Amino acid sequence: MTPAQDTIVAIATPPGAGGVGIVRLSGPAAQAIAATICARALSPRRACHVHFRDADGGTLDDGIALSFPGPASFTGEDVVELQAHGSPVVLQQLVARACALGARLARPGEFSERAFLNHKFDLAQAEAIADLIAAADARAARAARRSLEGVFSDRVDGIGQSLLALRVHVEAAIDFADESIETLGGEQVRERLLDARRRLEALLVDAERGRKLRDGVHAVIVGPPNAGKSSLLNALAGSDRAIVTDVAGTTRDTLRETVRLDGLELHLVDTAGLREGGDAIEREGMRRARLELGRADVALAVVDARDPDAGRAAIADSLQDVGTVLWIHNKADLLADVPAEDGDHVYVSAARGTNLDRLHDRLRALAAGPASEGGDGEFSARARHVDALRRAAAHAALAAEHLAHEHLELAAEELRLAHDALGEITGRLSADDMLGHVFSTFCIGK
Ligand code: GDP
Repeated sequence: MTPAQDTIVAIATPPGAGGVGIVRLSGPAAQAIAATICARALSPRRACHVHFRDADGGTLDDGIALSFPGPASFTGEDVVELQAHGSPVVLQQLVARACALGARLARPGEFSERAFLNHKFDLAQAEAIADLIAAADARAARAARRSLEGVFSDRVDGIGQSLLALRVHVEAAIDFADESIETLGGEQVRERLLDARRRLEALLVDAERGRKLRDGVHAVIVGPPNAGKSSLLNALAGSDRAIVTDVAGTTRDTLRETVRLDGLELHLVDTAGLREGGDAIEREGMRRARLELGRADVALAVVDARDPDAGRAAIADSLQDVGTVLWIHNKADLLADVPAEDGDHVYVSAARGTNLDRLHDRLRALAAGPASEGGDGEFSARARHVDALRRAAAHAALAAEHLAHEHLELAAEELRLAHDALGEITGRLSADDMLGHVFSTFCIGK
């Protein structure tokens, strides 16, 4: 990787006024530019009290300057931090002065991108920085922190290395075409591939949890008209956002609400009641309901507790492709005897708010899904990671099939594809355009 030729500058602290504001510089001219602004040379890694000067030598502000010569810096390049009073005007003046002295404004995420390109961390760890900054609570922050420390990347790398070693073995066997793979350790290869696939599956489970921690869980409320879907949304959201009426077919479109349950964000979608017939608008609502179901992590199937079988019959078809379904028997207040909660069946009264805490518990447990056995705790992950892991698992499965049939070339190719998919997560094999996409979602100054 050729070192960057240009020097970038950005305000690293959030927009607005604050006690302290930081302007960060990175690149070959960072030290020279800072020395001019501060009118003195800066000692490495020492806080220096300085006066920041404008072009005429006048004082813009006074503050602290910190110099981190590369490669022992965040980006791996020469980095300088100018800590001024947190006045947006002063900070802008410092940035303008740095630009006049040869720096250019950093793009969003460019500091992290440079750190990645200088091998300070891999792509999943770089993304974890953004996740840590955006974390909405302690649990999400802890998970992002663990990804940043490399918990996720280490597992990805470990599996990647196993797949690579297997591929080397299989390719060596191809060169000995006269011999059967059995004499070349075929049994051992199959066992090691099985082990790698198990580790991949376990990682997929944990990454899926990590993704939900980061992005939240998409839950779709479905049920026949009048079962109490809107009432449930209101009860969960603690507001009157959804219109609750007793005329069947009132919720014709989809309503969204985000609820936070102990560190887990639940994106709730209330859908039109699923029933046959209805007018054109209602049918469009139902079409959207089915679309939402296709993307949902979990369906909250609401039925009238007095006649759950009818409710189930009405919506069973629509739930066929949904992985996780929680059955919510609503209007339990109208039952003489409320049955005990049973597996995925919860009895509540949305209108009266009865048993909603149990529903919260079930949702939290169901939505996040179980951790893999032997996994070592939560880490944050993204949809792109989960997708790459799925592809890697699919290629590894195909490799196993080809191995079983002694199609060694095909097995080697699938192992290569599985390894490449894992490489996308850490960025070891990333295409430039993907890098650009990942870092462009960062904020400026990161
Ligand atoms: P939706 O069509 O499934 O969205 O149903 P709504 O939430 O609009 O509710 C339909 C009717 O059932 C309204 O009259 C609500 O007041 C009533 N309802 C909703 N939840 C409950 C409940 O827990 N107990 C009772 N008794 N009535 C309820």
